[in-house]
Formats: sequence, C-alpha cells, structure tokens
Amino acid sequence: MAKVVVSEWFQYGMDKPERTYTLIDSIYPPGIMELNGKRYIMPSWYELGPDEDVKREDIKHIPWEPKEKEVKVSSDKEYKVLSSKGDKEYIIKADATGSLKCSCPSAMYRPHTDCKHVKEIKLEIMGN
Ligand SMILES: [Zn+2]
Repeated sequence: MAKVVVSEWFQYGMDKPERTYTLIDSIYPPGIMELNGKRYIMPSWYELGPDEDVKREDIKHIPWEPKEKEVKVSSDKEYKVLSSKGDKEYIIKADATGSLKCSCPSAMYRPHTDCKHVKEIKLEIMGN
C-alpha cells in the first residue's frame, strides 16, 4: 500500500525545519493532484497542508518491490547465452525448484553460486 513518509530535520540557523517526502511501496512515481482546493501526493492520498510547499520533483520514490527477491522461472523456459568469446552457447534453465542453472563450466564447478550468465538473465527478468 502506497504511503508517504515525512521526515523533518532542523539545523541551528534555519528558520523552519526542512521536510523531506518519500513515497514508499508504490509502483507508480509520485504526483501532486489538486482537488477541491486541496493538494494531495498521489497515489497515496497524502493531504498537503497550506504551508507544505512541496514540488513533485522533491518527492523521493522508493518503489514497491515484491518481498520474494529470488527470481522464479517456470521450468519450460530456456535461455541461451553466448560465452564471452562468442564461440559457445550455454543454456540456462530453471530446475525443479525454479532456480536458474547454467550449462557453462563455471556453473558446474560452483553449483551453488550464480555464474555471470545466470546473473545477467536474472537482471533481465527483473528489469522487465
Ligand atoms: Zn554460466
């Protein structure tokens, strides 16, 4: 659920505390909406008071992320990557538990560590 966290800090010499607004747990970037003379930080419906002069670009955004960081891929999916020399093709497939396994030598020597191909594929999947 999207919400706005307000933090204030005050330093000696400032005439009023500085406020920072952070929109958290929202997949959408923050926006400011005016409705019936009131201003809200959307999509959380945080109502801004008349003294709260905040601009959209001042609002930080911490996007919502799924709790489960591990990338799960259905086992019928298959990814092909080229070796760094470009002369071999490795196949990355999900095993029965859904974690990705690569057919390259480094993945065989270190089966419990993601090789660079798996890392690449994971980044690609997460980036979409
Ligand atoms: Zn690999």
